[in-house]
Amino acid sequence: MSIIAANLQAVEATIGAACASAGRGKNEVRLLAVSKTFPAEAVLEAMAAGQRAFGENYLQEGLDKMQEVARLQPDAVLEWHFIGPIQSNKTRPIASNFQWVHTVERLKIAQRLSEQRPEELGPLDICIQVNISGEASKSGASEDELPELARQVAALPNLRLRGLMAIPEATKDEAQQRAAFARLRALFEALRAQGLALDTLSMGMSGDLKAAVAEGATIVRIGSAIFGVRHYE
Ligand SMILES: *Cc1c(COP(=O)(O)O)cnc(C)c1O
Repeated sequence: MSIIAANLQAVEATIGAACASAGRGKNEVRLLAVSKTFPAEAVLEAMAAGQRAFGENYLQEGLDKMQEVARLQPDAVLEWHFIGPIQSNKTRPIASNFQWVHTVERLKIAQRLSEQRPEELGPLDICIQVNISGEASKSGASEDELPELARQVAALPNLRLRGLMAIPEATKDEAQQRAAFARLRALFEALRAQGLALDTLSMGMSGDLKAAVAEGATIVRIGSAIFGVRHYE
């Protein structure tokens, strides 16, 4: 078995154990393999081990990798998620090459993604990134602006607002990890109570996977635990 296949198995087992101790079904949590900085060959190795959903942070790197994957394995059917910062002049290739975007934080970007989404691909699945760490982070919509932004994004025709995403301040303290994720879940539940049909909480990375699953994550975004240490970013 390749190292990537063994790592995937270990991550799946961790997710399974975290689900079991939270009283959740294992299939309530999807694994997004974050392949940033790793080559197309690593994606294909993960694919051979059964992984289908991949996350990329950098647009050009992601597009190059998709092309290389298609060249090496023309029948590969993968689902690509964009999880990096979005510049407004780069929305068109994101809208036409990805199935999900986890990092929408302003209306203007959402409007452009909706306008530029090719109709034949169906709606683009969206998470709004929320800044739950306050001053510690510059990324994400503030909790105050979230309700209005969510209503506006949900109304755009070629997008499907699925839920919320956050990258909390890194900490090894599991209680602190859980507190941050619980906060995102509370925001998610509040939007649902207002009538938005959301089903996705994108939270949890290699270092805080268990806490995220315990607090209700439905997509965990895992990079280094699958592909190894990143040597550059
Ligand atoms: C890099 C990255 C991940 C994966 O991080 P790991 O710690 O390697 O698991 C998840 N989400 C986002 C937004 C990232 O940029």
